[in-house]
Amino acid sequence: MEKPKVATVWLEGCSGCHMSFLDLDEGLADILAAVELTVTPITDFKDYDFPEATLGIIEGAVGNTEQLEILHKLRKKCQVLMAWGDCAVFGGVNTLRNHIPTEVLLTRGFIQTESTVDGVLPVHQELPALLPQVLAVNEIVPIEIYVPGCPPSPEAIAHALQEVLQGRIQRMPTGILHFD
Ligand code: SF4
Repeated sequence: MEKPKVATVWLEGCSGCHMSFLDLDEGLADILAAVELTVTPITDFKDYDFPEATLGIIEGAVGNTEQLEILHKLRKKCQVLMAWGDCAVFGGVNTLRNHIPTEVLLTRGFIQTESTVDGVLPVHQELPALLPQVLAVNEIVPIEIYVPGCPPSPEAIAHALQEVLQGRIQRMPTGILHFD
């Protein structure tokens, strides 16, 4: 029988949610035996031409035009989307910039910082533009499953994955929402 295909993306986040997934250690073997990972940063896959998949997993919020495009592409190709971590679920620490105009942010970061000499604003056709605000993923596309936490514990991630692989939407036991 063909295994369910799973794609994962790393948007505006620190990679900690994917690291928490890898922290499943030997538990990873069971999950990876049950699914086929397609596009994922774990394999350093950078082509976002997603194949059709049962499940798409998102780490990180959406703060620039490239992330916005990736999220829309993932939504189009996946039956179910799962948001991993507070950045994807709520916007997380990334939203600290939301009350500051992007021009002010970029000027401070690239020109005015005390350690910068002759700074310039980075401009290139391949550089994605910042969005005016960082958004949680459900502010852009419908999301079926949320796994909050910063990062979510490996147990919470495993529970959510096992539930969805058995055709259920998880009800997360509160005990595994904390990182022990
Ligand atoms: S939720 Fe926490 S661990 Fe996950 S990407 Fe955001 S900051 Fe990193």
